[in-house]
Amino acid sequence: MERRAEIGPRQTHRLWHRSLISGLRSPFTVLCISVLRPLFSGKVPMRRLLLPIAFLAACAPSEPQVDTVTAAADSMLSAYTTVRLDADLSGLTENERKMLPLLIDAADQMDEIFWYEVAGPKDSILAAIANPSLRRLVEINYGPWDRLGGNAPFMAEVGALPPGKHFYPPDITKAEFDSIADAAPDGGKALRSLYTLVRRNGAGGLTPVPYHVAYQSLVKRASTKLRAAAALADDPGLKNYLTLRADALLDDEYQASDMAWMEMKDNGIDVVIGPIEIYDDELYGYKAAHEAFVLIKDREWSDRLSRYATLLPGLQRDMPVPAAYKAETPGSDSDLNAYDVVYVAGQTNAGSKTIAINLPNDEEVQLAKGTRRLQLKNAVRAKFEKILTPIAGELIAEDQRPHVTFDAFFENVMFHEVAHGLGIKNTINGKGPVRTALKEQYSSLEEGKADVLGLYMVMKLAEQGELGEKDLRDNYVTFIASIFRSIRFGASSAHGRANVARFNFFQDMGAFTRDEATGTYRVDFDKVVEATNTLSAKILEFQGQGDYDGVVAWMGEMATIRPQLQADLDRLAGAGIPVDVTYEMGKTVLGLE
Ligand SMILES: [Zn+2]
Repeated sequence: MERRAEIGPRQTHRLWHRSLISGLRSPFTVLCISVLRPLFSGKVPMRRLLLPIAFLAACAPSEPQVDTVTAAADSMLSAYTTVRLDADLSGLTENERKMLPLLIDAADQMDEIFWYEVAGPKDSILAAIANPSLRRLVEINYGPWDRLGGNAPFMAEVGALPPGKHFYPPDITKAEFDSIADAAPDGGKALRSLYTLVRRNGAGGLTPVPYHVAYQSLVKRASTKLRAAAALADDPGLKNYLTLRADALLDDEYQASDMAWMEMKDNGIDVVIGPIEIYDDELYGYKAAHEAFVLIKDREWSDRLSRYATLLPGLQRDMPVPAAYKAETPGSDSDLNAYDVVYVAGQTNAGSKTIAINLPNDEEVQLAKGTRRLQLKNAVRAKFEKILTPIAGELIAEDQRPHVTFDAFFENVMFHEVAHGLGIKNTINGKGPVRTALKEQYSSLEEGKADVLGLYMVMKLAEQGELGEKDLRDNYVTFIASIFRSIRFGASSAHGRANVARFNFFQDMGAFTRDEATGTYRVDFDKVVEATNTLSAKILEFQGQGDYDGVVAWMGEMATIRPQLQADLDRLAGAGIPVDVTYEMGKTVLGLE
């Protein structure tokens, strides 16, 4: 499952790390480190890992050091800018308003659990850090490891973050885990479960500890809050889902509640809660981390999206590619909705912020019910205002900057999601599904496809009068500006690679030009259409042919950041444009207290 979580720019951060770490190397801290080092001798329980922060904070009191630490931490904090999540609640019923604080309370339990999963007890960790800037940085990252910078420690003394974090014993190796898991009576099922922690037992073996046992008091509290919210729910679908989810947190059997979530259609508010995504288990990707989103449905946009989904078959027919690549009939049953996010907790609140969700992850539920794509409109707006607009101010030709608009950005992001439904799922030459044929290249190419076909959809729907009064130039310029934003998250993610390849392809086709004197980019409105159509055809041909070698060669050439682009990206970092946002959120922000 894809989630637009947008993982981090490594290069800009490396500098900050260096300054922060070197800022801590006073004789005083070195002394403290040498005292602490024995703590890191392999067999120390993971939760002890947090002690060094406490000692470090206590160990570095003298003014010059503190100032250096503050300056370095502030420099890393400047990658983030704060956004208030104050949604309009006027469309909610009385009961829905009453449910929100309960859902927020339940979400807070997920936050607490996530701290344990990746670092240790939140309160004592944060309380031990005297420097406010450093404490804030640790809070944003849920530990002293930089999530925008490949989890590099920003306090040298804590050492590297074990890839299995707190889900596994910190010193475990894959060889050890595999041999013990394979020899287990159940073949390792419980040890490899999405919903267990792995702990050493006295006998030199490993014991799986179910989440609902490990986090008993926290999940009970969350469950009670969900049940109280269910009692207030007017919509029977939401009532059923909340009740089943409250049960699931107590026994880690989530399937029934996932089914109920897909069956619920008319709810005005929603909550995604529990152990869900596996990104934080970097050892195996077995363990789901706890998180929560509290959401309010944007009914107007949701209705528009369902209408567009019904137009997919016609859009498929009209695609600018040879007939063989558009022979499949796209499903028009996709469940795509827009929401405002009012609260996030746990995994999804750590580091960069999610703008779209595609759930559930349980494949049996997917087969039975499909999936739901949730677009988080105010999260998209936050990134537009705080990041894309300043990027355009730096890199888009001055007279074209007014064409960078939120509506165009949101349309481009939305139609990206709808466009995943267009095109081709199976190769046309007997190589089987495109996904299998293109192996690890599949994701980048599919993301690239959704980007160009999303823009194609906007052009087509505008032509058909479906989008009302419309200046397509807004979509084109915004599309080009947002390539810079996406590439800043690094060329290693699927989205990042797709964006670099498209940038180079479009540049080579003259879809935009760079003005040497001003260092800005100008879109050519005719050529950008031509480039979109040509790239769409090229990607669909790769997919239809299942041409793995062709994709490897093409990506090898196109998905590399060229020196001029790198220099322009460096300018963005130099101009202090943030990379991501943090949220100011909760009951007070929503006026619920
Ligand atoms: Zn996508």
